[in-house]
Amino acid sequence: MIDLRSDTVTTPTEGMRAAMAAAEVGDDVYGEDPTVRRLEERVAELFGFEAALFTVTGSLANLLAVRALVGVGEEILCESSAHIARAELGAHGAVTGLTMRTWTDPNGYADLDAIEALVAPDLGPFFVATKAVSVENTHNFAGGRVQPVERLEGLQARARRLGIGVHLDGARVWNAHVATGVGLRELGAVADTMGVCLSKGLGAPVGSLMLASADAVAEARVWRKRLGGGWRQAGVLAAGGLYALDHHVERLADDHVHAQLIADAAGVDPATVDTNIVVVRTDDAPGLVAGCREEGVLVSAVGPRVVRMVTHLDVSRSAALRAAEIVAKVH
Ligand SMILES: *Cc1c(COP(=O)(O)O)cnc(C)c1O
Repeated sequence: MIDLRSDTVTTPTEGMRAAMAAAEVGDDVYGEDPTVRRLEERVAELFGFEAALFTVTGSLANLLAVRALVGVGEEILCESSAHIARAELGAHGAVTGLTMRTWTDPNGYADLDAIEALVAPDLGPFFVATKAVSVENTHNFAGGRVQPVERLEGLQARARRLGIGVHLDGARVWNAHVATGVGLRELGAVADTMGVCLSKGLGAPVGSLMLASADAVAEARVWRKRLGGGWRQAGVLAAGGLYALDHHVERLADDHVHAQLIADAAGVDPATVDTNIVVVRTDDAPGLVAGCREEGVLVSAVGPRVVRMVTHLDVSRSAALRAAEIVAKVH
């Protein structure tokens, strides 16, 4: 089976397993796991944040980061197919008690005018106060689109003027970096808080990081524990993440090439495939999923007429070519 359902399905390589087995560890709830600390310091530094917190998932990183900007009864704005709105099972409402309003953009981009039109900061005790805007880079459900960095810089300037915070859901920001050559620090500089995943294209088995100011991270550490997410000798996992940073960032370019091969075969305009995600529109998503499965390719329906195919570390060039052939035949 060639598994294109998600880039989360990768399994650790031999080298990564060896690094994990050799990790120096301690009790991270006591702040005593040296490998976790090394990972947190390194990732904070990479993106130019004061501090970072290692979390079990990207969803938890987003939850803790957004919570730093938006409180109970307040709102965050995001694109209507954003991961925080669609794929975190209502956590931000259920746990933080915030509400969301959305704009829609086919590429998932920040629409600065639409955002400004939605912002309602402190209109008195009659309206929900907008406290932050969230953007995704790359944008998952829009098909791994890379947000133009100038646009995000423009968003940050407007958000400052409007007195609201900016959260960047950078689960796949590594792909944006490799696809465009824009530095990680530049990509992170547009936001007050950020989430990044190690368990997607980077191929670590588990782990994400929440990035913010030192104060916000200290508070997030308390909330992580409160939610049951404090972990002990987590350095075993952090070591996988550190290994991924050393070995699996630049190779994302291969995944992007493989996505182009599959896009071409699926009749998707390759110009709309910026990174490792191919979104195929079809009249019958479940039919396409079933047809591909019969031929040995796993893909996922992310809507009744939308199928997503994702390339990653465990899909070689020959597997991508084979998958492209099968998709062309079935679609
Ligand atoms: C995968 C993903 C996340 C986090 O997902 P988890 O499964 O919770 O790690 C967050 N945002 C985006 C855009 C994602 O694609």
